[in-house]
Amino acid sequence: MKKYQVVAMMTLFISTSLSAQLFPTGYVDPEPLLAAVAEEIGEANLQCISYSGTGYNGAVGQTFENAVNIDWPRPNALNNYTRTINWETGTSVETFDREPGLNPASWKYGLGWVGGTPTQQESRQTHIVNGEYAWHIDGSGEPVAVSPEIAEIYRMDMWLNPHGFLKAARMPDANPVAVWRWEQIEKGRDGNVVYPQKMYVVAITMFGKYRVDATINAQNQIQRIKTTVDIPTLGDFNIEHESTNQLTFGDVKWPIRWHSHQGWDDNWQFYRHSTGHNAYGGDFPDVVPHACGDPVPVPQVVADATFEVEVTVDEIADGVYLLGGGPANSYMIEFTDFVAVFESPGNEERSLKVIDEITKLAPNKPIRWLITSHPHFDHIGGLRTYLHIGSTIVTHMINLDFLNHDVLSYEPRTVKPDMVSMWPPTELAEGYNYEAVQESYVIADDSRILRVSYVQPLGHVAGMLMAYLPEEGIVFQADLFDTHEAPKAAQLPAMQSLSNQVQRMDMNVETLAPVHGEPVPWSVFEEALETLEGGN
Ligand SMILES: [Zn+2]
Ligand SMILES: [Zn+2]
Repeated sequence: MKKYQVVAMMTLFISTSLSAQLFPTGYVDPEPLLAAVAEEIGEANLQCISYSGTGYNGAVGQTFENAVNIDWPRPNALNNYTRTINWETGTSVETFDREPGLNPASWKYGLGWVGGTPTQQESRQTHIVNGEYAWHIDGSGEPVAVSPEIAEIYRMDMWLNPHGFLKAARMPDANPVAVWRWEQIEKGRDGNVVYPQKMYVVAITMFGKYRVDATINAQNQIQRIKTTVDIPTLGDFNIEHESTNQLTFGDVKWPIRWHSHQGWDDNWQFYRHSTGHNAYGGDFPDVVPHACGDPVPVPQVVADATFEVEVTVDEIADGVYLLGGGPANSYMIEFTDFVAVFESPGNEERSLKVIDEITKLAPNKPIRWLITSHPHFDHIGGLRTYLHIGSTIVTHMINLDFLNHDVLSYEPRTVKPDMVSMWPPTELAEGYNYEAVQESYVIADDSRILRVSYVQPLGHVAGMLMAYLPEEGIVFQADLFDTHEAPKAAQLPAMQSLSNQVQRMDMNVETLAPVHGEPVPWSVFEEALETLEGGN
């Protein structure tokens, strides 16, 4: 009897020490955790799901004031929303109605709000992912391909739900690992959970580069899934879905309330001063498990789409160049010994190509100044590239806190390191990297004068700068009058603001040089203003 006990104890000892060897201190076996969730939500037999309801979307990067707003702005609701996911085929179809005329048609929610691209014309919007391709359709229009970087994030999103995560965790190279922790009471934290509660976090790798973490609560439900992607402005960027109210539909459980953060849910602005976060959410109570929808083959036009960055160069006045070729422009103003640039949209790749063109146009002249109009994300993706190249960033003073803390920082970028994160410039530590403008600022030498001034853009953003070459009569401006498509009513307040500014400063404008669209004679602006003010 005693002998038997000793053997049993030894067996127990050996098996515990074996499992201890498999999982380092602080880690646990992810397999039983994932199996328990699969059991709880009935994951095994679910290959497709369709859910419907009413949602909202937050315009990431479009806050009126970066350091103050709590949420990304929500221009309007997503009505008649339906999403159908087929994990077996790797496809997702989302359709919703959204008020036309206000947002880029390409914008699903969160990432992808790009000014200067075609504005949504019809109410019905469709966004489709198939494998590595993604495209959108405005009303009954033609499919338009989504850029590969954004398509990758849309593609990942179909797995960022409880059932999708369990399937993704079984993919080759997912390499699940698990840790445990007590989750404490947090103001505003989602889910009907009794705190503090012991939680498990299972982390997997997707597409060989994204770490995706699922938090599993005591009910064996995945209540939160988060990952980190790269965006040009902020680098490592948090995306997390809170999926609450998991109800039973036939043989599965599925959350009917969705709530998604992009950026940190940081009410205290400890980590980031840009505190916008709620990017997508809503109530989707109509859930149909096993509904796969029709197949969505990749349209030829989408398969053939290319996203090569091409910079066009046009001299619009002596020594003044439009550097275009994308949804947003930069302008180069050449002085005797240096160059100034107005706006740095896009990303590092595009900005390096723009800088390359500048060095061809003005060899050996430093890009001394980069004037940034306002900190909406589609306008500042290249700001760090100019910091890298040695430019001083000219911005309105109210943007300084956000830019210096969140954008022009030493912070490492783990998903996609850029030049500043790899080789931080010494000026960053010395404070020579910016000029803060309150009312006006002048860049001049013996050859020319460039006046930078504050402009109060009604309703669009706080802290907006524009620039004016008095000799040439050129005004450089962003989002006050876009010329890439016909003037629309939504832009009227910003246009009135520009008009006021021009009168107040007694500017003699001949050419209006926009960041979105081609330069136009001032008369084009005046006519558009008159038409819109007349309500036509
Ligand atoms: Zn814009
Ligand atoms: Zn803007």
